[in-house]
Amino acid sequence: MIDVVTAQALVEKRSKLVTKSEVVALKDALGYVLAQDVFSAIDMPPFRQSAMDGYALNVGNDNSYRVLNEVKAGDNNNTVLKNGEAVRIFTGAAVPDSANTVVMQEKVTVNGSNINIEGEVHNNSNIRPQGEQIKVGEIAIEKGTTIKGAHIGFLASLGVTSVVVNKKPTVTIVVTGNELVTLGNLLSYGEIYESNGSMLYSVLKELGYKEASILSVRDDYVSTKNTLQKAIKNHDVVIVTGGVSVGDYDFVGNALNAIAVEKIFHKVKQKPGKPLFFGKKGDKSIFGLPGNPAAALSCLYIYVYPLLKRSEGATVTKLQRITMPVAGDYNIKGTYAQFLKAKVNETGVTILSGQSSAMVRAFGIANALVFLPEDKREVHKGEMVTTILLPNA
Ligand code: AMP
Ligand code: MG
Repeated sequence: MIDVVTAQALVEKRSKLVTKSEVVALKDALGYVLAQDVFSAIDMPPFRQSAMDGYALNVGNDNSYRVLNEVKAGDNNNTVLKNGEAVRIFTGAAVPDSANTVVMQEKVTVNGSNINIEGEVHNNSNIRPQGEQIKVGEIAIEKGTTIKGAHIGFLASLGVTSVVVNKKPTVTIVVTGNELVTLGNLLSYGEIYESNGSMLYSVLKELGYKEASILSVRDDYVSTKNTLQKAIKNHDVVIVTGGVSVGDYDFVGNALNAIAVEKIFHKVKQKPGKPLFFGKKGDKSIFGLPGNPAAALSCLYIYVYPLLKRSEGATVTKLQRITMPVAGDYNIKGTYAQFLKAKVNETGVTILSGQSSAMVRAFGIANALVFLPEDKREVHKGEMVTTILLPNA
């Protein structure tokens, strides 16, 4: 059995960009990874821009100015100012070339068509220089960036209409288990509702992988093998849940072996998620996640997500880790590393109750996972702990 760090390193080592690039409209680019650097075709701002409502003028010895006219946002009159002259100006408007400062209106008293400046005025105040944010030809956003809303805003401000992104890897989820009942049906004794499929599908969607499909098989060697074979043929990443342990009815390991999936690792010294399997067939990646829902979800965040991000060429592939003071004492039994469902607030991180692999309830409250390595068996209130922030939480 390998440890968490080794397992994560193996996933990283065996994942690489597998998708092709495509062009998407900027408004549809959210969550995609840029396949190329994006350069700015313009200066931003494209002209000297007023940052205030006030008066544009040339600072002189006198505090009194005659107001010639006004420039509002969008106007294109580039008034030539002489000494003692000003224009009324508004936020976002082009500052005349002949003005060297904008005085905010709160500092001015108005007498008819004249203004008097109260207090001191300085050169170059309240003017956003042309190209202050970015200059023509500079890189706006680097290749490998996962595009978020703010990026779309920035690129739109530069006039970018479309971007070249990497296609998303295709994902399928295969749920296994005779006990699983599809929603909408009544449970018989011994049965439970199938919940991993819709959960993993939805979390993948939250993470930007909207197109996952869900297949289900009973605990039967032949159908497990056939379903997995088809799933691997048709998708870049196959996520199996359940059947990956060593029980008499756990057929996933044998089935993957029979269809020549290379085992990279099987079993990790961690809780939850000890039975985790990771394998490759060519460029295809196969994860066998434990059937227990909370364990399956932990493994999705910690192992599957980084592989998906790398498969689409992202530079940042892991969930963000910070250190935070823990809100109370906590003791661990056993020798495995732990990913504990936890809630971060302003003052620290609270480890939640209900950590069982079978119970997914605490995940709904959690916005983070506290990671405790194998050699850390107790933590004390106020101690700094590694905290993995969950997205969309
Ligand atoms: P397994 O890994 O197949 O031994 O399953 C471990 C536990 O997870 C068992 O209690 C299963 O009933 C449960 N389980 C497996 N798959 C699912 C699923 N798709 N939805 C909900 N529970 C599941
Ligand atoms: Mg099972």
